[in-house]
Amino acid sequence: MALPVRVYKFGGTSVATAARIRRVVDLVLSEPATVRRVVVVSALGGVTDELIRCIDYALERNADYLKVVAAIRHRHEDVLAELVGAADQQSLREQLAAQWMELTELLDGISLLKECTLRTRDAIMGMGERAAAPMVAAAFRARGMASGAVEATTLVRTDDAFGEANVQFEATDALIRTAFAHLPEEQITVVTGFIATTEEGVVTTLGRSGSDYTATILGGALDAEQVVIWTDVDGVLSADPRIVPNAFPLPNLTYREAAEMAYFGAKVLHPRTMRPLQAKGIPLRIKNTLNPAAPGTLITDASDRSDGHVKAVTSIRDVAMVMLEGTGMVGVPGIAARAFGALAANHINVLMISQASSEQSICIVVREHEAAAATEALQAVFDLEVARGDISRVYATPGCAIISVVGDFMRTQAGLAGRMFATMGRAGVNVMAIAEGAAETNISAVVRADEAKAALSALHEAFAMGRERAHLVVIGTGGIGKTLLDMLARQAPYLVDRFDLNIQLVGVANRQQMLYRPEGLAYAGVLDALAEEAEPADLEALKARLIGSHMERLIVVDATASDTVINLYPDLLEHNIAVVTPNKRSNTVGQAFYNRLQRLARRRRTPYYYETTVGAALPVIGTLRDLIRSGDAIQRVEGVLSGTLAFVFDELAQGHSFSEVVTRARARGFTEPDPRDDLGGIDVARKLLIMAREMGQHVELEDVEVESLVPDALAELNVEQFMAALPTQDAYWTDRVATAQANGQLLRYVGTIEDGQLRVQVRAVDAGSPLGSLRGTDNIVLFTTRRYQPTPLVVRGPGAGPDVTAAGVLTDIVKAAELFA
Ligand code: ADP
Ligand code: ASP
Ligand code: MG
Repeated sequence: MALPVRVYKFGGTSVATAARIRRVVDLVLSEPATVRRVVVVSALGGVTDELIRCIDYALERNADYLKVVAAIRHRHEDVLAELVGAADQQSLREQLAAQWMELTELLDGISLLKECTLRTRDAIMGMGERAAAPMVAAAFRARGMASGAVEATTLVRTDDAFGEANVQFEATDALIRTAFAHLPEEQITVVTGFIATTEEGVVTTLGRSGSDYTATILGGALDAEQVVIWTDVDGVLSADPRIVPNAFPLPNLTYREAAEMAYFGAKVLHPRTMRPLQAKGIPLRIKNTLNPAAPGTLITDASDRSDGHVKAVTSIRDVAMVMLEGTGMVGVPGIAARAFGALAANHINVLMISQASSEQSICIVVREHEAAAATEALQAVFDLEVARGDISRVYATPGCAIISVVGDFMRTQAGLAGRMFATMGRAGVNVMAIAEGAAETNISAVVRADEAKAALSALHEAFAMGRERAHLVVIGTGGIGKTLLDMLARQAPYLVDRFDLNIQLVGVANRQQMLYRPEGLAYAGVLDALAEEAEPADLEALKARLIGSHMERLIVVDATASDTVINLYPDLLEHNIAVVTPNKRSNTVGQAFYNRLQRLARRRRTPYYYETTVGAALPVIGTLRDLIRSGDAIQRVEGVLSGTLAFVFDELAQGHSFSEVVTRARARGFTEPDPRDDLGGIDVARKLLIMAREMGQHVELEDVEVESLVPDALAELNVEQFMAALPTQDAYWTDRVATAQANGQLLRYVGTIEDGQLRVQVRAVDAGSPLGSLRGTDNIVLFTTRRYQPTPLVVRGPGAGPDVTAAGVLTDIVKAAELFA
C-alpha cells in the first residue's frame, strides 16, 4: 500500500551552513516515518546570487569570477567535510569538482564571447541547487537513513522561456510519478529545487525563489497530503518584516490570498507556488526552521471568519510607470489590449495597468529595467496615434513602487479603497495611480519608491493590524496591574496566533508616573521603562491625549482601587474608548453615576466591563446578565463573596480560635493590610450592590444591611492594637461555632439579595448545603430564579488573588477587543 506523501522544502537560509543542514535533518527525521518523505532544497543561502555575480564579472572580463567560484567551492567543501560520512566523502567531492569545472568552463565562454544567453544563464544559476541536493542526501545517510538525491531536470518539464520557464504539467506529472514509482518508498528523496529542463533536455529555471514552486509541483503530482515550506520566518507575515518590523504571522490564508501576496511582492513565496495545490486542495504550510514550535501559516481553500478584511500589505520596488497620455484615447476601445500585445511581443511583463489619477492617461507598470524597452515598444505600436495627436506622449517614470493590500472578498467591504487612500494621504504619501478593475483580493496603488515604506507602515497600522488590533492603556501597576502586564507579555503572541488578536500596549500609568506611546510599548520591561522614561502622572492630560489620538479599539484598564480614576470613565466611554476594570468604585458610588456609565456604554456601543469586581474571574456578572437578558426572573441571589471571610469561617470550623485565624489570614496575604477592611463587610456589601444594580434595582450602599465582624470597641484602634485585641473576640466566636455545629450547621458570611433587600450577615447553614460545603478561600454564588429552582444555578471557584483577577481582566479585555469591530 502506498504511503501518503509529504513534501518538505528548505530554502537557502535553512541550508546555509552545516549546522543548519543538521537542523533540517533533525526536522525531517522528527516527522512521522509512516509518510513518504520528499525533501526539496534550494542552493545554500546566497549561492544563487554569487553565481549571478560570476556571470556579471565574466561579462566584464573581470577574472574575479574565478575567485568567486573558488569561494563557492570552498564553502561547499567545508560543509561537506563537516556533514558527510566518510563513505560518501570521496564520491561527492568528485561529483562537485566536476560541477565546478563545468561552471568555470561556462564562465570562461561568457568571458570570451562577452555575451551570456539566457540559456547559459539558467545553466549556471541552477548549479547551486545541483550541489546542495546531494550534500543534503548524504547528510541523511550520515544519520543512518536511506536517502538519495534526484535532479529536478529529470522531473520537471518546461518550455524554453529561460529565466522563468513555464511548467508543462502533463509531461511533468507523468515524469514525477514514474520516477517515484521506481524509488524506494522508505528512502528520503532529496530533489533540487528551482531547475527543470525543456523537452530537448536543456536546463531551465522556474524564476527566483522557484524552489517553492518545485515543492508544490512535486506535491501536486504525487497527491501529497501536505507540502511544508520551511523558511526563516514564522510563516507568511502581514507585511515584509524588513520594512514593517511589527508585522505578525498570519495563521491562515487562502491560496488566492497567498498568490496575490506573492505576486505583489511578498518574497516569502514564489508567485506560482499555490497553483499545483489549489485544484487538489492540498494544504500548504509555511514554517520556521529556526522556530519549529511556532504554528506557522496554513494555506488552504477555506476562507476564515475575517473574510472581507485586509490581511496583509505588500510592495514591489524597482518598478516604473509607463504613461500613455492624450485626449484622443478617451473612450477608444482596444488601446489597452494593443498596449498589452506590444509589450507581450517584447517579453515585457506588465505588473499592473491602471487609470492614472488624471483621466486622460493609461498607466502601465513594469519592472524598472524594462521601462526603456516598454516605452519604445509602445511608441512603436502607437506611432499613428502619436502622429495624429490622439496620444500626446509616451514616457516612463522610474523610481516607483506598487503598494497592495491583500485579502479575500475585500471588494465586499464598502469604502475600503477610500480608507486605503485616505490612510496614505494622512501619511503624506502621494498616490500616483491606482489599479483599475482590481481583483477582489487586492487593491494596488503606485507611489514613489522613497515613500513606499511610509505607505506600507501606515496601511499596516490602519488595516492589517488595525483590523484585529486593540490598543491598551493600563492604569495602576499594583498587584493586579503588574500581574496583568506580565500575563500579557506571555499571552500576547498566543492571542495573535490563535485569534488574530493583537493587543498593543500604548500606555501605562500609576499614581506617580505615566508613559504614553501611541506607536506601541513592549510588555516586557514596561515597568522599568515607566520608572525611567515616564513623565509625572496627569490622568486628565492622558485622557485628553487618548481622546485626541482617535486610535481604534482603545481599551483603558483601571487596575486601581481609586475613587478618582473612575471620573475618567464617562468621557472615555463617550469617545468610544472601552473601560475594563476590577475597581468596584465606579459601580458603587451613587446610583446616578452608575446609570450614566451604563447609558453611555449602551449609547456609544462601547464596552464597559467589570466582571472582576465580583468574585474575581468567576463569571458572576456575565451569568446574571445572561439570565436577565434571556428573560429569566431572579428570585434570590446569595453567596460567599469574600475569599478572606470564607477562609476565616472554614478555619473556625476546624476548631481554631478567631484571633489565630485572622492572624494567619493576614500573614498569608488573604486580607487587606488592615484586616478590618475585610471583616467590616463593606467590600462584600459593594459586590452585592453591583449585582443588585445589574438586576435593575435602584439602591445605594447605605441600603445594604451589613453585619460587621468588627465590634465598635475595636473600630478606633490602630492596626497593631487591633491585632493585639483580637483574642477578646475568641470566646464569642467559639461559642457561636459550637452552637451551630450542635445543629449540624456551619457559619458562613453570606450576602443575600431577596425581595429588594440586600443583606450581608453571618449565617448558620447546613453542612451539606452548597454554602456549607465551601472550602478555603473559594467564592460561591447561587442564583435562584424562575428557571433555576429549587436547585439554584451555582458559580463557584477561586474568587480572589491577583492571578485570577488579572486573568479575569484579560478575559474582559479580549471580549472588549472582539466586540469593538
Ligand atoms: P528561503 O531562503 O527560505 O526561500 P526567502 O528569503 O526566499 O527564504 O523568503 C523568506 C524571507 O521573505 C523572509 O526572511 C522575509 O524577510 C521575506 N519576506 C518578505 N515579505 C514577507 C512576508 N509578507 N512574510 C514573510 N516573509 C516575508
Ligand atoms: N536558489 C534560487 C534563488 O535564490 C531558488 C530558491 O531559492 O528558491 O532564487
Ligand atoms: Mg525563497
